[in-house]
Amino acid sequence: MLEMIDLEKAERLALAEIKPVKTEKVFLKDSHGRVLARPVTALLDIPPFDRSPLDGYALKGEDTGADLPVELRVIGEVPAGTNFLGHVDRGKTVKILTGSPLPTGANAVIRQEDTECAAQPGFVRILKCILPGANISRRGEDIQAGETLLAAGKGLTPAAIGVLASQGISKVSVFARPMVAIASTGDELVNVEGRLNPGQIYNSNYYTLAAMVREWGGQALPLGLVRDKVEDLAAAIRRGLDSADLVVTTGGASVGSYDVTLQAMQSAGVRVLFRRIAMKPGTPVICGQKDGKLVIGLSGNPAAAMISASLLLGPAVRKLAGWTAYFPRKIKSVSEASFGKSSGVRRLIRASAGWHDGKFTVRFPQQQQPGVLKSMLGTNALVDLPPGNTIECGQIVQVFLLDEWRDSNDAGNLDCG
Ligand code: AMP
Ligand code: MG
Repeated sequence: MLEMIDLEKAERLALAEIKPVKTEKVFLKDSHGRVLARPVTALLDIPPFDRSPLDGYALKGEDTGADLPVELRVIGEVPAGTNFLGHVDRGKTVKILTGSPLPTGANAVIRQEDTECAAQPGFVRILKCILPGANISRRGEDIQAGETLLAAGKGLTPAAIGVLASQGISKVSVFARPMVAIASTGDELVNVEGRLNPGQIYNSNYYTLAAMVREWGGQALPLGLVRDKVEDLAAAIRRGLDSADLVVTTGGASVGSYDVTLQAMQSAGVRVLFRRIAMKPGTPVICGQKDGKLVIGLSGNPAAAMISASLLLGPAVRKLAGWTAYFPRKIKSVSEASFGKSSGVRRLIRASAGWHDGKFTVRFPQQQQPGVLKSMLGTNALVDLPPGNTIECGQIVQVFLLDEWRDSNDAGNLDCG
């Protein structure tokens, strides 16, 4: 068992053997937010035929070359969803609507606005010159049959779903949502439905973690409140391993006399990979493995639990869920505040990151204690401050963005300094 290791090493060790769980087929209409399990290849050209991008007249551009205006005989109309069966010869035209297939023989479309009614019935007056090839959306100019549209491991966003719908695809293969069992340890904890006695607090960690797990693409399985007893927690971990793909516990992960997570993991047959990560907050983390499943013990301190969950549990759950982008994106940003407290350990300062006055900047709340959960409310980023460093206002700092993810092989440094 390793002790007090770097975050990056902890991530490597924890994620090394993780693979997405199972795959399943879902209806496209239910696929939003899911992760593609197989690449999708285009079946159709889009557009499927040469078509008009506007309302007007399909004609031969050569007819508009010389003396304008010119009058052309209107031989028909092609409303959207239909096909004109005739042929457009010199001196003739077909009224066409946006999205309609270009009739054979025509090689250009003139806008309705560049025409007017001719005096002679059945004719239209063309007011402008239009070159052959103008105003045609070519077959396949958007998508060509056979091209790879979406890679496996990509999320089904509204745009991705739309692209699949445009191909007539009604079902997709996605990764199953991993089940994450969550145990909340602490003799002081009460469920939100209960009433507090003196000395007790509500269990908030379960709710935060369950919501984070859902955001990462997993499902949360509550293992309930667990007393600070080795055998109770070991039994909960065993239950979790039986029914979930990953088990996470909060509380009891440091070295106090009631801190039972390490022993409980060992008693449940978990091989502990490491204990403690060199970062503040979130040092108390115990991570182990049994039968290829990860067991992660986090600090009970609510902000610390969220922070180490974002950096270690999040990547693990996202990788299990099949995402290829599973690490928080790291960028450079300008600090809008100073931070004077240097520490011997790497610090993760909770921060709010965003664009201000043309620069991507971070601000941070005063309260940075591991137990202060409220300061996570405006937090969407963590400033990564190396040991012994302080921050001056205006300085460039490294920042983890908590709701943007990068691929494991992508350095992910977006220079916004
Ligand atoms: P521990 O990690 O067990 O030493 O707990 C650290 C702090 O976090 C203590 O103040 C606990 O009362 C608190 N804590 C532990 N578990 C939870 C939880 N599930 N929800 C809210 N606070 C908790
Ligand atoms: Mg405790």
